[in-house]
Amino acid sequence: MPETGKHSGGCHCGRVRYEVTTNLTPVMSCNCSICQKRGAVLTFVPAAQFALVSGADDLTDYQFNKKIVHHLFCRTCGIGSFARGLGPDGSEMIAVNVRCLDDIDLDALTPMPFDGKSL
Ligand SMILES: [Zn+2]
Repeated sequence: MPETGKHSGGCHCGRVRYEVTTNLTPVMSCNCSICQKRGAVLTFVPAAQFALVSGADDLTDYQFNKKIVHHLFCRTCGIGSFARGLGPDGSEMIAVNVRCLDDIDLDALTPMPFDGKSL
C-alpha cells in the first residue's frame, strides 16, 4: 500500500512544479477522450492538499465538452501534469497526473478503471 505523504511533481521542462499530499488511493485510469490520448493516470485530491510551487504563468488552459474541467498544460513542454475541476459537492478538486510525480513507481500501483467518458 502506498503511504500517505507529500509528493512533488510537475511538467517535463520543470517550469510547472507542485506539491500534493495524497495516499494515492485510488489511482485511476480514465477512459475519457483526453486521458485516453494523454495516457494519464489520475488521483483526485481536494484543492487544499495541492500547492502550485511554480509555473502559474506557464500554464495554458484547455477545455472541451461541458467545460467543467480545466485541463492545464505547460506551454513550453506540453505536459498536462494536473487539472482543476469541481467535485460532486461543488468544492474545488485537483486531478493529479500520477505519471508526473517524481517519486512514483507506477508499476507498483494498480490503476482502477474510471468511466470518465460517461460524465
Ligand atoms: Zn513544461
